[in-house]
Amino acid sequence: MGTSQPPTDSVANVTKRSEPLVPVRDDLRALEGYHSAQVDVEVRLNTNESPYPPPPGWAHDLAAALADVDWRRYPDRSAGELRSAIAAWHGVPVANVFAANGSNEVLQTLLLTYAGHGRAVVTFEPTYQLHSHLARISGATVVVGDRRPDFTLDVDAAERLVVDTAPAITFLCSPNNPTGLVEEPSTVRRLLAATPGLLVVDEAYAQFAPWSALELVDDAVPLAVVRTYSKTWSMAAARLGYLVGPSWLVEALQRVVLPYHLDTAKQLAGRLALDHVDEMDARVKLVVAERERLSEELARLPLDVFPSGANFVLFRVRTGAVGPDLGAAGHDVWQGLVDRGVLVRDCSRWERLDGCLRVTIGTPEEGDRFLEALRDVLGTVLPS
Ligand code: PMP
Repeated sequence: MGTSQPPTDSVANVTKRSEPLVPVRDDLRALEGYHSAQVDVEVRLNTNESPYPPPPGWAHDLAAALADVDWRRYPDRSAGELRSAIAAWHGVPVANVFAANGSNEVLQTLLLTYAGHGRAVVTFEPTYQLHSHLARISGATVVVGDRRPDFTLDVDAAERLVVDTAPAITFLCSPNNPTGLVEEPSTVRRLLAATPGLLVVDEAYAQFAPWSALELVDDAVPLAVVRTYSKTWSMAAARLGYLVGPSWLVEALQRVVLPYHLDTAKQLAGRLALDHVDEMDARVKLVVAERERLSEELARLPLDVFPSGANFVLFRVRTGAVGPDLGAAGHDVWQGLVDRGVLVRDCSRWERLDGCLRVTIGTPEEGDRFLEALRDVLGTVLPS
């Protein structure tokens, strides 16, 4: 039985401060976090997830494989079997595949490796917000190229921008989130020829689109194509993404990423999913057919509907209003949908997207619920 001693280094002796004397990095103080409003409603069409669960055969195979995992051990650091399966699927050597925790971690690792202080990163806005967000966190300067009002790229201006600013990384997103627009192969080729740095094509939605920049990947070309399991593969919960790119790029990324960053369960989940390619292709076909149906129905309403090669559609409320009033009208429509149990992404007050909403393609039943709610809302919100 020991006698209790008064603590000599208790927190009471420490000078209390609300912030450390060396605070958050100056360049990050104004940074806003990345958020997507989650509202508890019946029909959730806001985060571009798959409306269908993964194949039952995959869930069964995974459960069996998990029963045999030796949990005492660290995972395979190189994720060899997973990367080999992805490489075989795309018909490339395993040395050309890098995998990470969601394509967001792929993007982050690219930026940690090639961007950072004193370097430039080019994005063409509006596009996926994480490209510029993660670039800023790396310390890089973000150079923003604008798109035309219809969200297409002025390729001459884009070429001039990458020549003038010599970015370490230029991002394209095809199909682009949130517009849905698919870049032409000639656009990718021209930017690839013009940029002295890396061209990263974010293809989170490429399986819903008519072409992929994967065909341009080569060890002699500074191009990386980023993919995810979150959309087509119905595996957003698993957090798994990858890139296909030159072997020298993959080797550099492996040196930067945390050791053992991909846990064993995720490696198994991703590898086993590739035994079910046909079932996943069937799901993609269903989503594309529903996207076309929904786009046609939306075009009948007082909306500007943007053509999409993804699993979502962007549309703008046509009110005759401009600027903040247009943004407010878009937000009113979003709120009206929420009130009717349907959640879509509210982009209505984002820069360059005034009055726009983005709807994820769900099941045909969810599509009908959305259309019914939208018709109802437009009848009450818009001037007749
Ligand atoms: N890229 C794009 C264009 C996206 O829209 C998303 C998800 N919204 C991601 C990457 C990130 O996907 P994940 O991290 O789930 O793979």
